[in-house]
Amino acid sequence: MKQPLSIYNTLTRKKELFQPLHENLVGMYVCGPTVYGDAHLGHARPAVTFDVLFRYLQRIGYKVRYVRNITDVGHLEHDADEGEDKIAKKARLEQLEPMEVVQYYLNRYHKAMDALNVLPPSIEPHASGHIIEQIQLVKDILANGYAYESEGSVYFDVVKYNQSHHYGKLSGRNLEDVINTSRDNLDGQTEKHNPVDFALWKKAQPEHIMRWPSPWSDGFPGWHCECTAMGKKYLGSQFDIHGGGMDLVFPHHECEIAQAVASQGQDMVRYWMHNNMITINGQKMGTSLGNFITLDEFFSGSHKDKDGREMLQQPYSPMTIRFFILQAHYRSTVDFSNEALQASEKGLERLMDSWHRLRQLTPSDSSSVEVGGLRQRCYDAMNDDLNTPVVISHLFEAGRAINSVYDGKATISSADLKELQEVFDLFIADILGLKDDAQGGNAKAEAAYHAAVDMLLRMRMEAKANKDWAKADQIRNELTALGFEIKDRKDGFEWKLV
Ligand SMILES: [Zn+2]
Repeated sequence: MKQPLSIYNTLTRKKELFQPLHENLVGMYVCGPTVYGDAHLGHARPAVTFDVLFRYLQRIGYKVRYVRNITDVGHLEHDADEGEDKIAKKARLEQLEPMEVVQYYLNRYHKAMDALNVLPPSIEPHASGHIIEQIQLVKDILANGYAYESEGSVYFDVVKYNQSHHYGKLSGRNLEDVINTSRDNLDGQTEKHNPVDFALWKKAQPEHIMRWPSPWSDGFPGWHCECTAMGKKYLGSQFDIHGGGMDLVFPHHECEIAQAVASQGQDMVRYWMHNNMITINGQKMGTSLGNFITLDEFFSGSHKDKDGREMLQQPYSPMTIRFFILQAHYRSTVDFSNEALQASEKGLERLMDSWHRLRQLTPSDSSSVEVGGLRQRCYDAMNDDLNTPVVISHLFEAGRAINSVYDGKATISSADLKELQEVFDLFIADILGLKDDAQGGNAKAEAAYHAAVDMLLRMRMEAKANKDWAKADQIRNELTALGFEIKDRKDGFEWKLV
């Protein structure tokens, strides 16, 4: 029996029991980055949120195909239908090939994700590698009468679509609101029948570098096409989960739904999941807003704002950033501040200390601490729409029990100790994806490392018991030289890497 996971579906605006289309298999698509700048805290949040979902689904027994795309063409400035391509602009400014810009920032993105212990997705398709699929999507929509060609470009006919379908069902907007707030309304475009229509294919201007032949013009696909086309290619015409940041609900995901329905007659996605934003002084942190702090800047501890003031009081480790993100529910906003990050750093240290101490506890015949319900309480929290802050609070509570055993104020049986170790390893390492920054390795390597140091220190205790002082000192000195701090306790030892 699998865990009964409930997730909040943006489409139905309620938590729903997750039931995949195919037993044991989950198809999941998440909108990845537009690679024209360094990854910042705002990029870390969807990456970490859906990494935890990816890990959790696998832990509870599903085989998951996780597709996270790379947008390397067609994403224009201000997310609009007119203007310069974000990547082409960067390439022009830096005198590089657009694909050099893409590769450079993609490599850096991967490095940052690796530091955050975000697992690579199963497939990471590039928009520029799927032009044929996107052209086919546009052809299908045209054939079904929901798009029109105009001056070499193709636009989605939103008004016509809305006569028989609901454009706005995901975002909760109605067409009138969209018409009234449409940015393109202002600049009097003539190519579109209606300002709310969005581009499926754009004819390239002569100076535009990234262009491909199509039945309509040499040009490039509209931004929304790639996710519909690549989602279908790799996950099928219907799949389970589509995720992304809340800022993508409109227009990007609303347009994806319209494209799917207009091209194949039915929705493609069953559960729409959106993480909330990271804010800075109450405003969304975003590349286009220019108020972002990159992950590398967090790791190195220096970021100057536009007035030249230092924003970071210290460096923050990748795991502190990950823990900071996980300490909030993914659907709540998180406001960046040094105080909040410092609190996360302390909290993480406390959790890692308990995890570490857990391996040093000596079991007794019976337990005076309650361990039994912890595993299920952690599962229950995860099953409640990935409530990671509640999981963390359960682990903290268990950490207090670990400390009282460690301090000799309580006892734990060997069965309970084993259970506690398993639950900590499972939730901290495998599901929340946290690791000890100091050791940097995976949970297995870390466990082996702890066991090896413990073994040396037990050999030292034996040497002392045998009055082999030379041996005891040698072990101590060599470990100290390696950077370990060793403290003797009345019935054992305590150590840490300093
Ligand atoms: Zn997308």
